[in-house]
Amino acid sequence: MLIGGGHANVQILKKLCMNRIKGLHTILISEHFEATYSGMTPGYIHRDFSLEEISIDLQKLCFNAGATFIKDKVIKLETNYKKVVLKNFPSINYNLLSINTGSISNTKGIKIEKLSKCFFAKPISSLVNNLSQIDQIISNKKNRISIIGGGVASYELAFSLLRRYKYNLEINIFGKNILKEKNLNHKTKKNLKKISYDLGIKEYLGKVVSVTENHLVLDSGEKFDSDLNLLSSGANIETWLSESNLDKDKNGFIIVDNNLLTSDKNIFVTGDACTVEDNIRPKSGVMAVRQGQILKENVFSKLTGMPLIKFKAQKNWLYLIGTHKNKALLNYFFLSFHGRWCWKLKEWIDRRFINKFKFTYNSNMSFRNFELEKPTDIKMYCQGCGSKVSKNTLVNFLNEDNSHSDLPDSSIINTNSSSLLQSIDHIKLFTSLNPFDFGIISYLHSQNDILSSGGSVKTISVSQALPFSEGIIESFFMEYFMKGIKSEAIKDGSIIASGHSYQSKEPGITITMNGSYEKQITKSQAQENELIYLSKPLGTGYLLAAYFNNSELLSSFDFQKLMKWMKKGNKKISEISKSFKSKITTDISGFGLASHLLDICKFSGLSAEIKLNEEILINKNIEILNKFKSTGFENNYSSSVNEILISDNNKLQNILYDPQTNGPLLISIEKEDQIKFEKEFQSVIGFSPILIGQFKKFQKKLINVIN
Ligand SMILES: Cc1cc2nc3c(=O)[nH]c(=O)nc-3n(C[C@H](O)[C@H](O)[C@H](O)COP(=O)(O)OP(=O)(O)OC[C@H]3O[C@@H](n4cnc5c(N)ncnc54)[C@H](O)[C@@H]3O)c2cc1C
Repeated sequence: MLIGGGHANVQILKKLCMNRIKGLHTILISEHFEATYSGMTPGYIHRDFSLEEISIDLQKLCFNAGATFIKDKVIKLETNYKKVVLKNFPSINYNLLSINTGSISNTKGIKIEKLSKCFFAKPISSLVNNLSQIDQIISNKKNRISIIGGGVASYELAFSLLRRYKYNLEINIFGKNILKEKNLNHKTKKNLKKISYDLGIKEYLGKVVSVTENHLVLDSGEKFDSDLNLLSSGANIETWLSESNLDKDKNGFIIVDNNLLTSDKNIFVTGDACTVEDNIRPKSGVMAVRQGQILKENVFSKLTGMPLIKFKAQKNWLYLIGTHKNKALLNYFFLSFHGRWCWKLKEWIDRRFINKFKFTYNSNMSFRNFELEKPTDIKMYCQGCGSKVSKNTLVNFLNEDNSHSDLPDSSIINTNSSSLLQSIDHIKLFTSLNPFDFGIISYLHSQNDILSSGGSVKTISVSQALPFSEGIIESFFMEYFMKGIKSEAIKDGSIIASGHSYQSKEPGITITMNGSYEKQITKSQAQENELIYLSKPLGTGYLLAAYFNNSELLSSFDFQKLMKWMKKGNKKISEISKSFKSKITTDISGFGLASHLLDICKFSGLSAEIKLNEEILINKNIEILNKFKSTGFENNYSSSVNEILISDNNKLQNILYDPQTNGPLLISIEKEDQIKFEKEFQSVIGFSPILIGQFKKFQKKLINVIN
């Protein structure tokens, strides 16, 4: 298990991209989808780099590494139980742990009033995330910014802020010490001070003791006006880590030996969070990167019982400090230069590092199989009934869950309805996806079948295919799958009637749902002139294909948006459509929009006249739609294309055949209800339904797409 996508842990994942280890399952837990590369952050602040350029997409990195990514914050470490407690998701057990969670800004001895506009430079990701808030505070008048801390980072921040806000700032740097870094030579310090002086940046020696709404106060009692404050005053570690029983140094950082192992020999700590015994150096991204080079070897050596290698920190290293006008200051032993070529060198080094974590479409990565197991250890995995999960895992889960601990073969379903709706659906787990989220998606995907028949879910039976695994990994997948499913079942008031679980090369979830209904909706009830709506946009098939093919056209932000739509259920929407007496509701699933709409037209003896525009897409970039296709696309296309009239140059035609995972409902609404329906939908659901067309008398083709 890896906690934090810091500069060191990402190197383990990168190594896994090229060296898969049989029997190893890796989980990364990170608060954010992206890891921010510190070296390029000042360049991002002064708009030389985009956010994507300075970030590592952790979901994509995990996908390529075959690891599971969980976006969450660790809040407790229980080393006795080898367990980490998460803020939002269930706790997870580990065999081997690597912590690389960086540091937070040190606020010790500074009273920060609530109304003061105070932002923290650490963790670096929070600075990046808060930049838009800082933008809002900076107004057109001359703003006074105070940077608390007198290290190199304070100067770099000052230079980049001046450039970002077009030099419309008055910047003061306050520090107990100013530029005390041992490795900075005299000339560099002089240069740095001269550059900042020329730019109007002032330095004040003194300890800041409080930050109020409009002022900053030093221990001498001196008071300075300040509109905005940035704390760059050194590092601390988060409470969950400081409260763990790992040994710490006098400043509270986790002590690690030269192998980067803590007092608990199953836990590595690297980066800002650790102090390497006998190798104490200032905290920096450079150090974290260096430690990562050792960590990525030691983690695998530890797993294979090989000797570990030692981390030896350099005494001095190259500093490249961004200044202004695309110049940087180079410091190495007694050398000091300031110029454009130094900036070019910095950019080249930084890009070389970050580009290692960027994946390109069709990148040909060689997979070598380092097998942990000896050939004699490798089991023959049965794919029949012998591929069930171990009884212990199942019984433990059911006991903890207080359900079906007597392992009945089947359950009695009591229902007031004389008839039941029943449906079955299966989806496969996408590599790297949080299995809890996958549980949610698979429930909602199955729920659509019941909703589209006008029903509501009463009971479910679940069959889970877990990856081949044992012990804590098997338990992790089972718990996450089931708890994800249950988090949605609770909203329906549905009960889990029975279950089955087995191990497979292709993990996934099958759900059988039983539902009750008052009035069944069938596909033959569409009426001429009724309006056709989609409850949410389309595109899950080709977008997942693009993302998992490492397309540069999809960013981590795009993926997050896609996940948001996939985790959005249709239950409330179906209730609204029922209240409008909609006679047609169907869900757009694996067969795509065209196929489902064709069925309705065919069975109702009508045609549909529809218009495709960008509103129908989750992602408005049409290039992705035309470049990527999900595996189901071709079949969907060939089974529907002859029934559709569409101009060859319609740029959105591919969306008709795109298979959906937990796709939208297709709803028909009487024309006179249009305004009322749209208003009600907007007020209850929070966004607008998508009007795509109207049912018409049967024409030559079942679907006519108008331009
Ligand atoms: C303005 C500024 C400029 C800097 N420039 C440089 C530079 O040019 N060169 C340099 O060497 N250093 C620089 N530094 C220092 C550098 O930022 C840090 O030393 C470096 O980021 C530490 O790296 P790390 O790998 O320990 O952790 P980080 O890079 O901070 O990564 C920690 C990761 O852990 C995640 N995380 C944290 N807590 C949790 C939790 N509880 N649960 C789950 N995930 C969690 C975070 O989201 C983050 O992804 C700069 C610092 C500042 C403030």
